[in-house]
Amino acid sequence: MNNDNKKDDKKQKNGWIKYSIFSIIVVIILVFISYSYFENEKKEDVAYTEFISKVNKNEIEEINLTAGSNNITIIYKAQGDKADLSEEERTEKVIVPSLQAFMEWIQDKLATGQIDAKLNQERMNPMINISERLFSLLPTILLIVLMLMIFKMQGLGGDNSKVYGGEENKKTNVKFDDVAGLDEEKGELVEIVDFLKNPEAYQKMGAKIPRGILLYGKPGTGKTLIAKAIAGEAGVPFISMSGSEFIEMFAGLGASRVRKLFERAKKLAPCIIFIDEIDAIGSRRTSNSGAESENNQTLNQLLVEMDGFETNETIIVLAATNRPEMLDKALLRPGRFDRQITVPAPDLLGREAILKLHCKDKKLADDVDFKEIAGDTSGFTGAELANILNEAAIIATRQKHDAITKMDIENAVRKVTVGLEKQNRVISDKDKKLTAYHEAGHAVVSKFLPTQTAVKEVSIIPRGVAGGYTMYKTTEDKWYVSKTELLEKMISLMGGRAAEKLVLNEISTGASNDIEVATGIARDMIVLYGMSDEIGPISLKVDEPYELQIFGEEITDKIGKQITQLVENAYITAQQILSKNMDILDKVAQKLLEKEKITEEEFEEFFN
Ligand code: ADP
Ligand code: ZN
Repeated sequence: MNNDNKKDDKKQKNGWIKYSIFSIIVVIILVFISYSYFENEKKEDVAYTEFISKVNKNEIEEINLTAGSNNITIIYKAQGDKADLSEEERTEKVIVPSLQAFMEWIQDKLATGQIDAKLNQERMNPMINISERLFSLLPTILLIVLMLMIFKMQGLGGDNSKVYGGEENKKTNVKFDDVAGLDEEKGELVEIVDFLKNPEAYQKMGAKIPRGILLYGKPGTGKTLIAKAIAGEAGVPFISMSGSEFIEMFAGLGASRVRKLFERAKKLAPCIIFIDEIDAIGSRRTSNSGAESENNQTLNQLLVEMDGFETNETIIVLAATNRPEMLDKALLRPGRFDRQITVPAPDLLGREAILKLHCKDKKLADDVDFKEIAGDTSGFTGAELANILNEAAIIATRQKHDAITKMDIENAVRKVTVGLEKQNRVISDKDKKLTAYHEAGHAVVSKFLPTQTAVKEVSIIPRGVAGGYTMYKTTEDKWYVSKTELLEKMISLMGGRAAEKLVLNEISTGASNDIEVATGIARDMIVLYGMSDEIGPISLKVDEPYELQIFGEEITDKIGKQITQLVENAYITAQQILSKNMDILDKVAQKLLEKEKITEEEFEEFFN
């Protein structure tokens, strides 16, 4: 872990140096551009109209033009007040608005003999000529130089990948023991470690080893960690790169980076390549315009590289994504990422194990019970749990505790979930009342819904952006959720809005998140889980609206209507439950206004 940090530091430093060079170049260019601009200003001694009048008075001896330039030089006749001046002193510069119009005009003057000036089409004072041309070219030259520099910085053909292990330090230091939970997943990957350790044995046997392994799972579930652990266990270098780093503003760079990455890996083999966020390059190839065609080039290069492995090259490509459905199917074909492993958010035991692991070098008070914390953090990822313990350590330090207490961890959980309590935020009485009824609405409604878990805490103390919150007890992790449970979840979500409407006959923006979540559930029920009686058990999940057409024109209409109906029904049911239990709703809301926070026990008392 320390080594990783050092690497990042170094990278950042490099970034700063590049950044400063970049800024200096920009400044130099700006100076040159403004300088040449002022230079032009200085030489433009005669205004065009004045010049025209001098021509008309036949005071000009010579007019020198440059093809393609509106800058002309003129030499006055050595007469009048200029009689004693040298040719150079009589030379001045004029900018003509339109060279063509000027030419026509002056040639007419010459042809009709109105003036007797000499017109030189290309010839100019050679000194002025050269320096002027150089000057006018300078910004362009500098711009080209700048572009080249940017290209270099962007790593045109450059390689942004990070190598852990290999020449610098033999191992990534991460071992399977550093990955808590995920026993099944680790089990599946043990054979990869063995292969990396003795590739010859497998080759002799003629065994085909997977080239690419895709790790599915939401951020923070430990995908990077497990990939590093494979490299660490096998003692091979770990080269990592993020998919988003392949996406560049200059076309073709992504593809060249992929090529470099694999070239590097071939030199370091046996080794592991880890591509994080592969969906950034590997999303479905749809059209071939703009950014997407750049994507396609990068993706194609990746496919070419994976297909081009020699059998004796021991390189395993691990890739991580949060959105498997986005991936181009070509990536999943045999010989590419043909093995997929789901890395789920940890279950109860997994959470306990992760908590224990991350507490190894933290000082804990005796009252800390990992089982209990694990029970309160259902759905949390490993990264979030690690973050909670770190927060707890910070809280404990600030509170000058000798060790991290149970309370510190509970506060950290709250801080991470709903933001810090903002006790001192001034709220108007009206707002307070609205919030109290809103939260009481959630709590009371869910009490009458058998599938919903018990209320743990109701509060109208604002946290983060929320005006208040209702916390439910978490139960054991479940694999499946029933239709009834989803429907009742929606009802309890609508409980807040329903209470506002019933009691205050006023609805507020405070329910926006509830409504968003409830609508999302309704949509998933119909589109994803096939729970609509009318539409039936069909997945209607599509990437593009037109794909729905295969189900007939009226399907989109139906989906919309069904979603609306589900949410509306939930809202009505919530109102019905509350209007039957107005007395309890009032009592809970009053208590909230009084105490700002109600515990589980206090809440239950209203129902006895
Ligand atoms: P991902 O790559 O899936 O986004 P990471 O591997 O980067 O997640 O995890 C981030 C951090 O979270 C890790 O460095 C580790 O501290 C912690 N973590 C996540 N999962 C686990 C786990 N199963 N065991 C121990 N720590 C974990
Ligand atoms: Zn709410």
